[in-house]
Amino acid sequence: MKLAVIEGDGIGREVIPEAVKVLDAFGLEIEKVPIELGYARWERTGTSMSNEDLETIKGCDAVLFGAVTTVPDPNYKSVLLTIRKELDLYANVRPVKPLPGVVGVIGRSDFDFIIVRENTEGLYSGIEEIGYDLSWTKRIITRKGSERIAEYACKLAKKRKNKITIVHKSNVLKSDKLFLDVCRQTASAHGVEYGDMLVDSMAYSLMMHPEKYDVVVTTNLFGDILSDMCAALVGSLGLVPSANIGEKYAFFEPVHGSAPDIAGRGISNPLAAILCVKMLLEWMGEPRSQVIDKAIADVLQKKIITPDLGGTASTIEVGNAVTGYVMKNM
Ligand code: ATP
Repeated sequence: MKLAVIEGDGIGREVIPEAVKVLDAFGLEIEKVPIELGYARWERTGTSMSNEDLETIKGCDAVLFGAVTTVPDPNYKSVLLTIRKELDLYANVRPVKPLPGVVGVIGRSDFDFIIVRENTEGLYSGIEEIGYDLSWTKRIITRKGSERIAEYACKLAKKRKNKITIVHKSNVLKSDKLFLDVCRQTASAHGVEYGDMLVDSMAYSLMMHPEKYDVVVTTNLFGDILSDMCAALVGSLGLVPSANIGEKYAFFEPVHGSAPDIAGRGISNPLAAILCVKMLLEWMGEPRSQVIDKAIADVLQKKIITPDLGGTASTIEVGNAVTGYVMKNM
């Protein structure tokens, strides 16, 4: 197994080394391939990612990614969007699950759901024209794209509560009728229970009744917005991991960005990045991945926590504590 390790910019450079420490504690045969991408790379070389970098990534099986800062260049092509497209990472998966002793904005911890977001089309098609008086972006929904994300959500649902909620806006966006129909048909074919919600009602409902949901499947932009919103349910952006999955490759990244405001101070929370390692291990079929949950519960209970959670521990102290627990209890 070959893993591309891309720390990126800002706090990506602080949290990914801690996540790698935890991964190393499992003693698996993983060849790590460090790749420098992003803003700092652009400042140094004039390019944030080269074609060779892309080929190196394609030569790996999976990617562990920190965060990149957007480059202030009107011709800048997003590194993340390019990798997602090139590796055909069609499913963005974000578990929304409270961690022991941490309460989010609504003060509840009785929820555990996963947002499955279509990752390659919708309003992120990249087909757009920017003008002075008129700008437009084409929103693409295909049968194939809808089918494969619905399949992914249904397979996940079968391992959980056998239930999906399809989120759309088909009352206004006619393109979403195709997405909704395909998701319903796929769920029926799999014998998975399904319901659907308009995205605006869903935003409200997720804040009021997050316990009602299990697997939520939606289009690209809606998934992007809802999943960041749901980080507030968990308590900190520093606690939420995500995976981008394709047929061949998988890519794991914390939901947070490069957070330039706290970068370089050693106070960023590495738990989202560490939970990415857990998702990576699950994807690899490693049965011991659950020990990471126990390790995180242990450090939270001992209050070895960074300032975003009200603590005084450094990024490295949290990383060391999780790694130590994993090594002792595996
Ligand atoms: P970018 O431009 O890369 O998206 P950003 O600052 O706009 O960066 P995020 O990195 O997602 O967006 O962060 C938003 C805020 O959340 C940050 O200002 C930071 O204070 C906080 N934050 C994000 N991630 C973490 C973390 N891992 N630990 C602690 N605080 C975090």
